[in-house]
Parts: sequence; structure tokens; C-alpha cells
Amino acid sequence: MILPGTLPGDAVEAVVELPKKGAHSAIGRVSRFIRKSPGRRGSPCPASALCGGCPLIELTSEAQLSYKKRFLEKLFSATPGGASQILDPIPMPHGIDSGYRNKAVLYFEESAGTRKLGMYEAGSHHVAPGTDSCRLCPHWMAVAANAVLRWSRDSGLSVWSETSQTGLLRGLILRAGSNGRLATLVTSSSIPDSASESLISALQSAGVSDITVSIKTRPGNFVLGETSVVLLGRGSVTAEISGLEFEVRPETFLQVNTPQTPVLYDTAIRLASISPEDTVLDLYSGIGTISLLLARKAGHVIGVEIVPESVEEAKKNAVRNGLSNTEFFCGPAEKILPDICSRGIQPKTVFVDPPRKGLEASVPGIIAAMEPETVIYIACGPEALARDAAKFHNLGYCLDTLQPVDLFPDTAHIECVARLRRVQ
Ligand code: SAH
Repeated sequence: MILPGTLPGDAVEAVVELPKKGAHSAIGRVSRFIRKSPGRRGSPCPASALCGGCPLIELTSEAQLSYKKRFLEKLFSATPGGASQILDPIPMPHGIDSGYRNKAVLYFEESAGTRKLGMYEAGSHHVAPGTDSCRLCPHWMAVAANAVLRWSRDSGLSVWSETSQTGLLRGLILRAGSNGRLATLVTSSSIPDSASESLISALQSAGVSDITVSIKTRPGNFVLGETSVVLLGRGSVTAEISGLEFEVRPETFLQVNTPQTPVLYDTAIRLASISPEDTVLDLYSGIGTISLLLARKAGHVIGVEIVPESVEEAKKNAVRNGLSNTEFFCGPAEKILPDICSRGIQPKTVFVDPPRKGLEASVPGIIAAMEPETVIYIACGPEALARDAAKFHNLGYCLDTLQPVDLFPDTAHIECVARLRRVQ
């Protein structure tokens, strides 16, 4: 936890109080700086103070990485065999520090007669000024966001209000493919035909090749709606990763850091030492990125993924890349795994790449029952990885390497690849 207004390496005097008796987290306020971190630099982003999405941006990348490593050492110090296995984080390739994100999620907001389209301030539902042009995203995304904001005013369409639960325009999701640009407008109901036509020309002026409208009628935090209409192109883009091509749709997951994603996958696959006779399980397989990279080296790869659109795309991606030694199953890993187990499949290696909350409680036990030699755990949530690695330890697997990969520079997040080896 970083005290607001401070950076790792600062020494401060702070007043810390519990908001109410028995609260689990305290509120801290800096009263005096004793010493500022030697790793401080000026912020390269004009919006960083208000946006809050990049809390470490005022540290040099070296200072960020050493902070992230110390954080992991502390976190894994309680995991048997944990802290001693942590390698230095892999930094971004060639010092790239901007324009590397392939996805921007922007929200409409209207207050006091001013309409905005941008990112939410961290921890709020208010659009932070200046975030229509985030430096982490390619420039065309800022051009597209401005074109859509102008279009929304010119076409007289209303903006969704969380308070009154009325209005039409909710958000805009922009995704960059290797040679295509996808825009998804999120609305509360369909937009008039005349507005669709002018939206197409506004977005084409920003070089957008594919447009979908996603209609969200139900409440809830999930950004996309339940139904969608393609306005332009196929409504998807193609991403090239390490020589393979993947179709990316608005509903499907893709790592957001384009140059660092192949580094992450290569690291994970190298740690696994796959041979052509191996059967490999890839749990939480998304659109089949890791499965298909594995299929180039393994005998057979089985992917498991909960989102039906992703499974559909994974199967198509396998065909498109000519990799026939793959199978994909749709459903929660915790439900599908026992079926795979009952078919007598004995994978030599199991890859898991779960969401931030980590593995469902039963999953480590089911994996261990299949007795794979190696489990490769890719984690965007190191806390969940530490918890799950301790469970694997009790099941006879030791954490033998933990390789952090800096997938989220300037933020406090760090991606980790852990190798767990069977010892009994
Ligand atoms: N390995 C993929 C996706 C990783 S993101 C890649 O690198 O692109 C995590 C994935 O887990 C998402 O696609 C999400 O839809 C999926 N997921 C979430 N909960 C799941 C569950 N219980 N069982 C299987 N897949 C799940």
C-alpha cells in the first residue's frame, strides 16, 4: 500500500487514523517530508496527478522495478521456498515507455453542461481531465476519442448518468490490432441510423477499420453490453504474437501491453521446457494465445476457458494457424478439470493464467491429482499467486523460479511467471 502523495523510498511523517472503530484499513495523511526518494523524476504525463492510474510514474523505471522486486520479496517471504527464487523483473523492451497499450476504456460523463469522454480517476466514477489522450496508448486513440466526443455533441445524443440511470452514450473501447483498429461504442439502447452513419465517418477519419455498438441494458460494473451490432468491417482485429495470428473481438481478452506480451509468453514457455511428446493443459486459455504457442512445441494441448466467444475464437485461431494438435473446452476450470481428469489425461505440464483473484479453491488439488511434473503459473495478482503457491506446496509442489515481467510500468502492478515443480 502506497500512502497517497508519497512514493516508495520517501521518508515522511504521517498522521494515520482508522476511519471508524474496527475498520480494516487506515487513512493516512502526510504531515512532513523528511526525505524524498532518490528515484524521483518529473512526471512525463500532464494528467497523472488527477488520473491516478499510474501511481509510480514519478519514479525512474529502475526505482520502480527495485520497488516491485522488494514488494514481491516481502510478499513471498512467508511462502515456503518463496523469496529466494525471485529473479530481477524483466523491464520493458528497448526502454519503450509510451504508446504500448493496445486497449483504452473511456467513459462519457456530463456535468454542469460539460461533456467529457476519458478514463475514470482511480477509485471514482468521474472522468479525469486530460485522459482522452493517455500517453500509454497510441496517438490514434486520442484522435478517435475526440472525434467521437465531437460526434456525440453534433448528433445531440444524450449521455448516460449513473445517478439517474438514464441517457444513451456510456463509453468507448478502443483496441489496436497489428494492422487494424477497432472501436466499440457502448450505449444503453440502439442509436439512430443517421447517427450510425456519422459515427462511421467520424471514426474513419481516425483510421478506425472496425466498429461495433455494444448495447448494455443491465446494471453492473462489466463495461460491455449484452448484445452487439457490427457497423463497419468484421467487428474484430487481428493481433500478431510471436509469428501467430489471433482474432480479437470486443468480448475477448488480450494482454494490453503489445511489445511485452511475447516476452511474457516466451518466458513462461521457456521455463516449461516442452518436448514434442508432451501433453500440456492451458487453463484460463482466452483466445488460445498460450495454447497455440505451446502447440508449436508440444504433442497435444488442451485449453480451458469460461468465455464462449473466446473459446470459439481459440478454435478458429488454431485452424487459421494450422495447429491441429489442440482442443478447447468451454466452462469454469474448476468444473471442466474433473472431466479431463476422468478421461485419464496425464499432462506433463499445466499452465494456469487466471484473473487477478487467482485459482478457485479446488483447482490446485485437482491439478495435483493429475501429477504433472511442472505447473507454470502466470499471475497478474501476486497476492493470489503467493496464496496458491502455498497450497501447491502442501500438495507436493515447490516454487522453484519466480520471474517477474514488467507488464504494467508506472503502476504498482507486476506480472509474475512462477514455476512449481513436483517434489514427491
Ligand atoms: N491466457 C490468456 C487469457 C488470460 S486472462 C491470455 O494470455 O490471453 C484470464 C482468462 O481466464 C480470461 O480469458 C477469462 O475469461 C478466463 N476465466 C476467468 N475465470 C475462469 C474460470 N473460472 N475458468 C476458466 N477460465 C476463466
